[in-house]
Amino acid sequence: MSNRSGAETPSICAVGIPVTSAGHSGRFSDSPIGRGATAPDGKGRGLVSEPGSERVVVFDTTLRDGEQSPGASMNLPQKLQVAKALRDLGVDVIEAGFAAASPGDFEAIQGVARQVEGATICSLSRCSKGDIDASANALADAARKRIHVFLATSPIHRDFKLKMAKDEIIRRAVEGVKMARARCEDVEFSTEDAARTELEFLAEVVERTIEAGATTLNIPDTVGYALPQTYAETLSYLKKHVRGIERVVISVHCHNDLGLAVANSLAGVMVGARQVECTINGIGERAGNASLEEIVMAIKTRHDVLHVSTGVKSERLYPTSRLVAQVTGMHVQRNKAIVGQNAFAHEAGIHQHGMLTHRETYEIMRPEEVGFSRSSGQHTWELVALSTTSGTGTLPAASIALQKNDGTRYQEACGGDGPVDAVFKAIERITGISAKLRDYQIQSVTVGEDAQGEVVLEVEHPTGVYRGRALSTDIIEGSARAYLDVVNRIALKQPAVAPEVEAVRQLGTV
Ligand SMILES: [Zn+2]
Repeated sequence: MSNRSGAETPSICAVGIPVTSAGHSGRFSDSPIGRGATAPDGKGRGLVSEPGSERVVVFDTTLRDGEQSPGASMNLPQKLQVAKALRDLGVDVIEAGFAAASPGDFEAIQGVARQVEGATICSLSRCSKGDIDASANALADAARKRIHVFLATSPIHRDFKLKMAKDEIIRRAVEGVKMARARCEDVEFSTEDAARTELEFLAEVVERTIEAGATTLNIPDTVGYALPQTYAETLSYLKKHVRGIERVVISVHCHNDLGLAVANSLAGVMVGARQVECTINGIGERAGNASLEEIVMAIKTRHDVLHVSTGVKSERLYPTSRLVAQVTGMHVQRNKAIVGQNAFAHEAGIHQHGMLTHRETYEIMRPEEVGFSRSSGQHTWELVALSTTSGTGTLPAASIALQKNDGTRYQEACGGDGPVDAVFKAIERITGISAKLRDYQIQSVTVGEDAQGEVVLEVEHPTGVYRGRALSTDIIEGSARAYLDVVNRIALKQPAVAPEVEAVRQLGTV
């Protein structure tokens, strides 16, 4: 925790030693969609109580929790750039830092508060006057602001970190919330390490902090210990046993130590949580946080089950992910859900036939929905028209029209050693991709008047060896399609795999 939160400034994400969880006796039987929701109104002007709302508040903590992850620190201009991107993305709350942690954090929160309008700006604080004053001062110029106070509630944190008895925890939490309320209308309280806290005690802390004026109650799984069902049971228990809980927004904040951050967050939403805390690309302490893009797209894609929505403009997800990866230097794994380079790669790849027949064969989301565009560096082409001339006394020539995936059409005419050679040259001219032919085979796969031939090509390109194939009743058209298959694979950097692997993949997938 580099320059800021040493032992003196713990965070709600401090590392703990996993111990056996307190008995979770709450039943997983509440209505799947709870009430007790609060959401921003249509104009996004502050949080208003709306029991039964279907709107989930997206609380982004990329600049606070995300920035705490090793190697992800950002300077002030970068933080401002990310904050503006988050605002444009449509998040409801931006946690810009932990004001008391360092002068750099204070300045960043102040900068975001002054320059980024359109979202609620939030600062984290412990339950102390110094922290709360620092947050309130840093947020002074924000059009909409929130002070987020936290205190650990689990036995291991009480006994070993805080050395406080239960009644002392309650006293400090209530005092912290009251101090924050004196400086700000919008106050969030987090019960650090809630997922490992005894349910009865957790309920007591939550009830007392609601009485003290907290407007959002966050129940974090600080150490990533919960399972979806146990986490949902904890929230259901609170909904059942805490007086006044219907007046506040229940929030989830889950870490990914067991790879369950998103699953746990969604389990929380299913029992009535109406704020999700998350980060772009899932960055955060240790194994990270719940990934914002996965939460948003799960809510959007499975509306049939979840029946809630967010204010996030999903088509801004991919560009925002790229920006955060660039400024933090934390690269996104290729197979990462939603924003990984391979997330939609089947488009022009192995499943192409199924995709062309019916997109939903392999696609539950369209790449455009998340702003993933092959036109930003990854062009693919399809054949629109083709004609060739050849025969005794004529020079072999081809004229061809292709359409790029952004909709633009291109036309080219070329001569060659034969009609197929002319076609390949025309494709090379349009696409700018040239490759050396290594193998070219034609096989008939059906017989009769409409006999179909299969053209299989293998080419060599500086980036690897690529194979393409196509079926057609016309040899020249089949050759053109097979060559385009190769060109598209080169564009998407999908070199050939071993033939036996390819053969298995062609059978389908599970
Ligand atoms: Zn955290």
